[in-house]
Amino acid sequence: MTDTFGRTVDYLRLSVTDLCNYRCQYCMPEEGVCKRRHKDILSVEECVEVVRAAAKCGVTKVRLTGGEPLVRRGILDICRGIAALPEIKELCLTTNGALLPQLAKPLREAGVDRLNISLDTLRPDRFAAMTRTGSLDQALAGLTAAGEAGFTDLKLNTVLIGGFNDDEVGDFLSLTRDKPWELRFIELMPMGPCAGWEKSCFLSSAGVLARFPELEPIESQGVALRYRLPGARGTVGFISPLSHTFCAQCRRLRVTADGKLKSCLHSREEISLKGLQGHGLEEAIRQGILQKPREHHLTERPSDTPRSMNQIGG
Ligand code: SAM
Ligand code: SF4
Repeated sequence: MTDTFGRTVDYLRLSVTDLCNYRCQYCMPEEGVCKRRHKDILSVEECVEVVRAAAKCGVTKVRLTGGEPLVRRGILDICRGIAALPEIKELCLTTNGALLPQLAKPLREAGVDRLNISLDTLRPDRFAAMTRTGSLDQALAGLTAAGEAGFTDLKLNTVLIGGFNDDEVGDFLSLTRDKPWELRFIELMPMGPCAGWEKSCFLSSAGVLARFPELEPIESQGVALRYRLPGARGTVGFISPLSHTFCAQCRRLRVTADGKLKSCLHSREEISLKGLQGHGLEEAIRQGILQKPREHHLTERPSDTPRSMNQIGG
């Protein structure tokens, strides 16, 4: 379906929980978030129904996210239900990777096509400090398990933060020499716990890119501008929601774990889908698509949404 600005909306990001086994400093409060009552989050069946209705409105690609989607009870049933929908051509999942040693193979069998794994640092001490509860070894074991389960075209998400991991860009780039992965450097967005962080934490992709003139531009993909080191097997993508607003190309809708449709990550506007079914559910999704704003205003002010990333789904 096309929105009022002529953009085709065909990509749904469905958050299946706002809980997480990590407490990344920029995303979650240290004490975590209160567990919602069962009846306040979308059930397994409701998750599948929402995707079925979205598919009727033109959605063909779904990404499951969170919070950490792999801590959601019933995640494999959600994946199976969505993968069985004929209109859905691509089912992806974004994870911190900690539970992949147990779940990579079952996820593959449940119909997940692609994984994005978040990894912000290659240094064990920094990893522990940033995630507050995680270990680098565990995350790397997750990467290995994903490869062994057949997820070969992995994407690695790295949020670049000034004063934290900007000195590791070269180490991350080196990974692409041997691995056929796509590294994705993402600009930190001022929302949730990091909304008030110092300006120096927020790096522009262009500034990072300028430090590595050896990166050769290749075809861009979706919202990522892509590059490759000469002779490398893998590629590097830069996603720049702050410095290079890609709203004109945005094809996304989001649904939060508590069933709120958000047509823009940074908008306050939400439509409640909980309790809707069939035609009513479809109509609400169509209405959400038609309300999709032209752009966000992150360059002028912090995000308008009071939610943090774990409560929306990155
Ligand atoms: N727990 C999973 C994970 O970490 O991959 C999925 C959810 S997480 C919210 C999805 C992505 O959003 C992660 O790559 C995370 O680094 C990113 N993210 C969280 N807060 C962000 C922010 N303020 N700016 C940019 N990216 C952010
Ligand atoms: Fe959890 Fe992902 Fe947020 Fe880190 S970025 S706290 S892993 S939801």
